[in-house]
Amino acid sequence: MSYLFPTYNKWPIKVKEAFGTSLIDEHGKKYLDFVAGIAVCNLGHCHPYVNEMMINQLNKVSHVSNLFHIDGQEEVAKALTSNSSGDAVFFCNSGTEANEAAIKLVRKATGKKKIITFYQSFHGRTMGSLSATGQDKIHQGFAPLLDGFSYVPFNNSKALNEAVNEDVAAIMLEVIQGEGGVHGASAEFIETINQLKEKYNLLVVVDEVQTGIGRTGKAFGYQHYNLSPDIITVAKGLGNGFPVGGLIGKAKLIESFGPGSHGSTFGGNPLAMAAANATLQTIFQDSFLKDVEEKSNYFISKLTEVLKDSEVVKEIRGKGFILGIECNQDVSSFIVALRDKGLLVLNAGPNVLRLLPPLTVTYEELDLAISLISNTLNVKLVESK
Ligand SMILES: *Cc1c(COP(=O)(O)O)cnc(C)c1O
Repeated sequence: MSYLFPTYNKWPIKVKEAFGTSLIDEHGKKYLDFVAGIAVCNLGHCHPYVNEMMINQLNKVSHVSNLFHIDGQEEVAKALTSNSSGDAVFFCNSGTEANEAAIKLVRKATGKKKIITFYQSFHGRTMGSLSATGQDKIHQGFAPLLDGFSYVPFNNSKALNEAVNEDVAAIMLEVIQGEGGVHGASAEFIETINQLKEKYNLLVVVDEVQTGIGRTGKAFGYQHYNLSPDIITVAKGLGNGFPVGGLIGKAKLIESFGPGSHGSTFGGNPLAMAAANATLQTIFQDSFLKDVEEKSNYFISKLTEVLKDSEVVKEIRGKGFILGIECNQDVSSFIVALRDKGLLVLNAGPNVLRLLPPLTVTYEELDLAISLISNTLNVKLVESK
């Protein structure tokens, strides 16, 4: 008997301890963690500097509310804006809240309610964000949805051109769809978005909840493209495990979020800011991001080599350390097999294995993962009936 709502299909593992890329379960079994709390622990578990900054802050003051000035907020906001196209930050506690803030800001700033999002996108589970999400299974049972969203096929410039007109307030996208199968936007599709932005003066919102904070090898995933978003939302990796989210917006939007327009009791509290500050000081360094890119290139090329004759693997894709291995079949049995061998990975849709190791993963750990994945995926294709 559990005292919890059964909203999650949980894995049969109880984690007792974690450090870096390693998880230790209650029986002492060690796992290589290529899930990282779902793209959250970008600096690995129990990162010494993040822990030290949080413990110091905990012993001074952990919460006061946004009635007070909080130095840490200015520091984190400076790091986020000086590494992106944005100029000001609103702090909240999660990805879905960051996207709710984005939806509100879009409506307030434009006076319009129509927002274009994409099929297979994922923006969160609260009413606004789930309405923005272009997946039926996320909507099921929760009607009526928030009004104003239209879904368009991702990477389809023709469909997007047809969907956009003067009534559209914003286009909202993930530059790499995370939950939806690790699908990256094409450069041509981003160009279409830029043309539509120019023509209709609409806002571009990039949901960087999964792709931000160094995950793709750049500070933000959109920086792989020629794109200057008006609004960027972040969460997952921002606090390396401490819950914190944020909306980063351009200067022209600042007056739309004036006093009383939006708020959050916990948003940007001193403890959250200590975690975010330590995280950003470490990740937003050219040398750190370059190292992520190099390790990722090594990993992808090795993986491609060992899987080239696999009958089940269709494609390897992604950037930095948000990687997908698309298979010809459902991947649940592979996830279990890898877990038994000591490697934790996720899925992204039924046929895609998703790898999200901490960005601090070592070459030795990558080599171990490559051999476990190779052993598991170099199997005969199961005939589908
Ligand atoms: C995880 C995720 C969210 C939701 O974040 P929560 O913190 O779970 O609310 C939103 N958008 C994207 C792209 C995500 O990956």
